[in-house]
Amino acid sequence: MEVREVMLDMFEGRCLDCGGIFEIFNFPDFQYGQRILRTAGGEDIALLDCPHDTAMPEVSELIRNEYRGRPLKDSQFAKLFNKVFGVVCDPIDGKTLDASRVGASCPHCKSSNINTYEIVPRVSVAVKVPIVTHKVWEQLAENQKRSLISEKLAQARSTK
Ligand SMILES: [Zn+2]
Repeated sequence: MEVREVMLDMFEGRCLDCGGIFEIFNFPDFQYGQRILRTAGGEDIALLDCPHDTAMPEVSELIRNEYRGRPLKDSQFAKLFNKVFGVVCDPIDGKTLDASRVGASCPHCKSSNINTYEIVPRVSVAVKVPIVTHKVWEQLAENQKRSLISEKLAQARSTK
């Protein structure tokens, strides 16, 4: 697993279920070309290096093909993209990534019922984050890729 050191802001997380207090890391604001993705349960983070990511253009094209001839607003496209993208990413420490997940989870009780607070003044920390990879996806044939994305899109539509 390739790891890159990035400067992230520290936030304070407070769990509404167990009262636990913990640190959460994310980019301070919008960061051009880089995104922090979280695992489905919110435990781990990974770095999506957009300009160099090979699967992003493939997934975008597969989504657009699926919607060919039908209207697809940018906001709807972004939502669908985030919902399906995790399936093309290798798991982080055995956990599936979910690009539609925004928040972290409590490291003590695993609850997602948390509040996030900004720390003032801002605390910037160098954090080593694994880079999102697509080794499994890259092994798939074109038709397998297409049907996998099709399947995930159907799921995304049914869950809204
Ligand atoms: Zn908790």
